[in-house]
Amino acid sequence: MFFTPPIQYHEPVFRPPSEWKSLLIQVTIGCSNNKCTYCDMYRSKVYRERSFEEIDHDLNIAKSHYSRLGLTPEKIFLCDGDALGASQELLLKTLKKINNYFPDVRRIGVYATAENILEKTDEQLEELKANKLSIAYLGLESGDDKVLHMIVKGNTARDMLDSSLKIKKAGWQLSTIAMLGVGGRKYSKQHIENTAKILGESSPTFFSFLTTFSVPGTPYHTMLERGLIQPLTAKECLIEMREILAKANYQKNQRIIFRANHVSNQHPLGGVLPSDLEKILKKLDHWIDQTPEGVYPPKPDRM
Ligand code: SF4
Repeated sequence: MFFTPPIQYHEPVFRPPSEWKSLLIQVTIGCSNNKCTYCDMYRSKVYRERSFEEIDHDLNIAKSHYSRLGLTPEKIFLCDGDALGASQELLLKTLKKINNYFPDVRRIGVYATAENILEKTDEQLEELKANKLSIAYLGLESGDDKVLHMIVKGNTARDMLDSSLKIKKAGWQLSTIAMLGVGGRKYSKQHIENTAKILGESSPTFFSFLTTFSVPGTPYHTMLERGLIQPLTAKECLIEMREILAKANYQKNQRIIFRANHVSNQHPLGGVLPSDLEKILKKLDHWIDQTPEGVYPPKPDRM
């Protein structure tokens, strides 16, 4: 059972689907990039690090809430969009307080950009890991530089690969998310080739897809309306997924937990890569075959 503590969050608040049971603690407000063309998650917020006093206030509320219930959170997730970008000092103070209040917490997670990871030293990442901050969710979106530039991701494919290898070397788990259809029809081929390349080379602990859709008010939406991006059909999105998974050059003894169960995806899919690859491709071939031409993926409420 999960009980939300009465913390006054700075809304809106987002977390990865797998963190639905986690206690959410805002360390930063908004996103330090806040420019990705398709994303409206933090457009209403001005990025800032919170003071330790603000964070401590929320932790105190959470502590009394869980104590009253005789419970402890199993997992904690640090918000907002890229809380790993907060200063090392603030992160360590926060983690130490969390570990003091909730010594049985199993894992602490965070959203991270490639830049956040590259800005930390190996020692800093290891120090955070020693304080149970041990899973980073990285929005790769695409392994292709042209696509990353087009969506104003703020990092190159090289940054994505280097940061993935760096955080794994520090002992963290890495959950990487790629976007289907993000380059539109024009860049689909290179999006497939280069995303597959990063998937194989970075070997994340978890890998997932979401399907790109346009949110009104975003630059991506405007580009679609002006015909500057040709969106992929439902069938083409499935083909992108199939090709990325099939083309990745998996390393020996690799074990990547794969999920495509985001609300934006047409069919829930999962397994372990590369051991379940043949089964997954078979399912995708079936769905590709069943999906009519010219139909676009349905839009979920939010990304
Ligand atoms: S996709 Fe991530 S990095 Fe880009 S603006 Fe949104 S929250 Fe920030």
